Amino acid sequence: MGYKTPTCSIARRCGGCEWLSVPYPIQLKRKQAQVEELLAPLASINNVTIEPIRGMDEPLAYRHKAATPFAPGKGRTVRSGFYASGTHQIIASKECLVEDGRARAILNDVAYLAGQFNIHAYQEDRGKGALRHAVVRCGYATDDVMLVLVVNGQRLPHEQEFIAALRKAHPELTSIFLNVNQKRTNAILGRETRLLWGSTSMSDKLLNCTFEIGPTSFYQTNPQQTEALYQLAIDGALAGSKQTGATLTEASTQTDASAPANNLRILDAYCGTGTIGLCLAHVAEAQGVNLLLTGVDQVENNIQMARRNARNNKLEAEFICDDATRYMQALAKDGQNFDVIILDPPRAGSTPAFLKATAQLAQKKIVYVSCNVVTQARDLKVLLDSGFAIERVTPVDMFPHTKHVECVVVLSRAN
Ligand code: SAH
Repeated sequence: MGYKTPTCSIARRCGGCEWLSVPYPIQLKRKQAQVEELLAPLASINNVTIEPIRGMDEPLAYRHKAATPFAPGKGRTVRSGFYASGTHQIIASKECLVEDGRARAILNDVAYLAGQFNIHAYQEDRGKGALRHAVVRCGYATDDVMLVLVVNGQRLPHEQEFIAALRKAHPELTSIFLNVNQKRTNAILGRETRLLWGSTSMSDKLLNCTFEIGPTSFYQTNPQQTEALYQLAIDGALAGSKQTGATLTEASTQTDASAPANNLRILDAYCGTGTIGLCLAHVAEAQGVNLLLTGVDQVENNIQMARRNARNNKLEAEFICDDATRYMQALAKDGQNFDVIILDPPRAGSTPAFLKATAQLAQKKIVYVSCNVVTQARDLKVLLDSGFAIERVTPVDMFPHTKHVECVVVLSRAN
């Protein structure tokens, strides 16, 4: 097949890439089989077959976000690296095959310089020590590099000197933040974040839209595959939305300027920083479709970024901070509706009440983007029982060398 299986010196112990030794074409086959096992019984009701998984041509260096935990080493030193599979034991590594090439050197130098400045690493068992984690995010379409230091306290000792040394070692950094996490939990980030140096956010591009990303914003890790995933969601939302039944791309070539406005009401649920809906709005605008976009997410910071992203891309949209289920139920009670509802919930999937309201609100289509096909299959059964039919199922490989698979399912109102 011409694909060379990469090797990694810590692969046996690291909990990261459990499938690294499996040739990539076989990994893709396994993921395809996983999706078929769960979704083919549902898709076959409507005579739909699962499309071939969209894999990566070069499944390396795809993670644009990388993180490390810290722990005390010998003497004053601080250790960084990866948790061994199923444990919190740290394995050191100079590099990582699946991360953006810039990230690991920065994370390791945070550990090295912390040792030099006598900054103590956090001791998980005792809840003592300052430096807990560090997270680096590198731009895909930009050269922005953001570093977030997660600290058990409000400040780091020798903060200014430490930052100066980090900047000297890594002039590619464009911002450094301190996130306060004093809770004894496994969650990496705490609630409070302070800019230590540089820009207040970083920016990146997906499908010709610009996005601002804050230090704690949700933003997909593999931007290249995110574009493939979003394009499928966009195609699903726009396909056949003209009366002719043609796709908008075909239909828009016949657009008559005097024709009445072609409105399309879209709801982007679990919208994060608004990325799917805004990329869709951008494509729709180019096709002369007047998109009325609403997005909902429960994290205030995501919604603030989403509003800013709409303004920066000169797109009209309304973004609401609320629990998605509560919001949908209120809209359904109010007799509202949308042409298309897109949902992209976390791994746990959606709720029965959300799905019930969605089936009531969506007049034409539902586009379900999922990072967990098990919960997606469970939720799809509810939508099929509520009068929707599966039109298209496409798996996407966002995390090569892991067992995870994403999937875009397009449904339309049956009859
Ligand atoms: N569509 C976005 C985000 C997907 S991740 C993207 O592609 O970037 C899932 C999102 O769901 C997160 O932003 C999270 O904040 C949000 N979320 C999780 N539970 C939620 C709930 N109950 N109500 C609303 N949003 C929720």
